[in-house]
Amino acid sequence: MRTEVDVAELVEQRWGALLAQISRATDHRQLAGEAVPREFFAMAGATGLIGYAFPQDIGGGGADLRTWGAVMEELARVCAEPAFPIVMSMGTGVASVLQDCGRPDLVEHYVKPIVRGDRTATLAFSEDADPFSMRTELRRVGDGYVLSGAKDFITGATTADVFLTYGRDEAGRVVGCLVHCDDDGVEVLPASGLGFRTSGMGRLVLRDVPVSADRVIGADGLAHAQRYLNHRRLILTCLVTGMMRALLARCVTRLRTTVRHGGPVTELPNVQAAIGRMHIAVETTRSVVASTLARVADGAVDPVFDIGISAAKHFATEQAVMLATQAFRVLGGHAYYGDPRYGIFLQDCVALLCAAGTQELIEVNIGALVTAGLVEPAEKSEVLT
Ligand SMILES: Cc1cc2nc3c(=O)[nH]c(=O)nc-3n(C[C@H](O)[C@H](O)[C@H](O)COP(=O)(O)OP(=O)(O)OC[C@H]3O[C@@H](n4cnc5c(N)ncnc54)[C@H](O)[C@@H]3O)c2cc1C
Repeated sequence: MRTEVDVAELVEQRWGALLAQISRATDHRQLAGEAVPREFFAMAGATGLIGYAFPQDIGGGGADLRTWGAVMEELARVCAEPAFPIVMSMGTGVASVLQDCGRPDLVEHYVKPIVRGDRTATLAFSEDADPFSMRTELRRVGDGYVLSGAKDFITGATTADVFLTYGRDEAGRVVGCLVHCDDDGVEVLPASGLGFRTSGMGRLVLRDVPVSADRVIGADGLAHAQRYLNHRRLILTCLVTGMMRALLARCVTRLRTTVRHGGPVTELPNVQAAIGRMHIAVETTRSVVASTLARVADGAVDPVFDIGISAAKHFATEQAVMLATQAFRVLGGHAYYGDPRYGIFLQDCVALLCAAGTQELIEVNIGALVTAGLVEPAEKSEVLT
């Protein structure tokens, strides 16, 4: 595990130039709603970023999870383009779950090319339905299958070569499978939401798409997708922490030069209190992320639904939303019409109230496990005498 300073230096030395290049046109892309260009993911692969935490024998850098989490946080802190690490990590997440399948063909055809940056990938699970009512169908036809349906709002869809997606088979099971953007019957329609305007959001339409048997990834698709989601929540927590650090630093820099009634507003106690609240939010979130990463890296993790990971995603999201509203309160009009980054941050972190599982469902799931006695409430294990 590298220290925070080591990670900052590593990111600057190895990927600083790339991140600066990606950051350059972000304001234009945000206004136009343009996706981060596909070529940046190729460059991220070629410079060893995408593969940094994958094993060396498949072309990766062999970094441990704690270092990878710290690299993700640092990328989100220094890269002005929030979509870059968000979309890139969708691909690393897909490569990870495919690698965990233990199939050499998947490693050869998908994991290695994703790591090299030759292929981009994302996860397409959600429909306007709960997972038990999924409408996308996977029908058996001859030796293979045919997939029909649609997935609503997919991160990185417009730049993805491969989709890890899910359909219900004739027995009613949710089954994972891989489709390519140029497969017959696949159409990707650009989609737009409130935030993540540069993430290439899209709707994946599947019209009788032929899927060969080797593209089917196990029968228990629900558990499979849940594993992806578990890991996704952890990475999102790292990313939002980096974004929060960048926002706070930006906010303080601006306030230091804002003069009202003859003096800098940073001398006003209410402004200092706001900055204090924001700093507390950032530091507590960093601490939650660090301890969660350490625990998961030590192997103390439920791979399907880890309460600590979900709690960390929940906590970080709430802190990020609070940070954004504090920035708007303390910066006045500057946050609204002077600098677009605050609005972008607000829109993006509000998305995390719902992305990767809604905050409310995380609360329900954790609460249900605790009340069923499957988790020890904190006071049971830590009674103060
Ligand atoms: C920025 C962003 C990026 C996304 N990227 C992707 C992507 O790349 N791939 C992908 O597949 N999806 C993606 N999504 C979709 C996302 O995963 C879903 O929106 C999310 O899982 C919530 O599902 P839903 O919108 O259907 O909400 P719903 O399931 O309708 O939940 C809304 C609310 O209904 C209530 N509710 C629903 N079910 C229950 C229950 N069982 N018990 C109690 N209350 C309940 C809760 O209050 C819950 O908060 C993305 C979404 C966003 C915002």
